[in-house]
Amino acid sequence: MALERVADGVWLLRGDLRGAMNVYFIEDGEGVVQFDAGTKAMRKKVAATARDLGGLKRIVLGHAHADHRGTAPYLGAPVFCHPDEVPFAEAEEAVTPYFDLSLLPVAPVRWIYPTLLRRWDGGPVKIDGTVAEGDEVAGFEVLHFPGHAPGLIGLWRQRDRVALVSDVVYLVDSTRLKPLPHGEASVPHPAWAWNHQEAKRSLRRLAALEPLVVGAGHERPLRGDNLRATLEAAADKY
Ligand SMILES: [Zn+2]
Repeated sequence: MALERVADGVWLLRGDLRGAMNVYFIEDGEGVVQFDAGTKAMRKKVAATARDLGGLKRIVLGHAHADHRGTAPYLGAPVFCHPDEVPFAEAEEAVTPYFDLSLLPVAPVRWIYPTLLRRWDGGPVKIDGTVAEGDEVAGFEVLHFPGHAPGLIGLWRQRDRVALVSDVVYLVDSTRLKPLPHGEASVPHPAWAWNHQEAKRSLRRLAALEPLVVGAGHERPLRGDNLRATLEAAADKY
């Protein structure tokens, strides 16, 4: 695992499976706000990193899937998410009830996911407060991007066009458990969708912002001055 600078005051810690699980830290006064919580195996490294960056003020979950809530119960900081995500963050199960693994085309991948999700998960997360569209988090604006999860949120900073978006967009091929070729993106596969049509709409909304940097939940950030086209094409992949 290594810490990477994403933008002014924004850091990315990559970990677990081939370093594909992302936790972001945003400088906020003396300490940092953590965006997304990765997997349970990352908890010690996340705690140490937050300490090195001045201390953890709060955790904001992009959404509550097992590989995004994993460290949250172990860090001693208040945890926030979107109101529509609270029941899933606080749920016992590692396998989110609306997942439909039968849609995954490769049988061994279909079979291994419940095991992976249980291994990645850190268990139920007590939610201390909520954030919704238009709220401010460490100099970023909260945007609601429902679809992949009902309460999926991203963070948007207009001044340098940086978007941290959790799983609004995938830079991985979740049907084969491998990265997409560099520079490629896709809407998350329907197997993981709460509402796939809404997921496509949310990804088009992100495209229309014309971001220069997109930090997603998995793999390295996308950068470029024509991400709009990349993201619009991504919305049509499934
Ligand atoms: Zn997810």
